Amino acid sequence: MSARRQAMAAVVTTGTPWELWCSGCRAFTLLAAELLLLAPDGVSVLDVVQWCEVCDDLDHPPRPRRTDRA
Ligand SMILES: [Zn+2]
Repeated sequence: MSARRQAMAAVVTTGTPWELWCSGCRAFTLLAAELLLLAPDGVSVLDVVQWCEVCDDLDHPPRPRRTDRA
């Protein structure tokens, strides 16, 4: 038998992020990036992650908007 044992190492990383309009705070502050799995047999996209610097800032969350004015 000459079969070599293959290493099953895989790495998860993100691709280059891009900016989007956030539907929550309506600002151009949403960052999106592809979550990539780099495996010996190729690259696959696991998911697209999004993070808004306003809405997802746990230290300074945005105040809730009032929309019930008559
Ligand atoms: Zn937002």
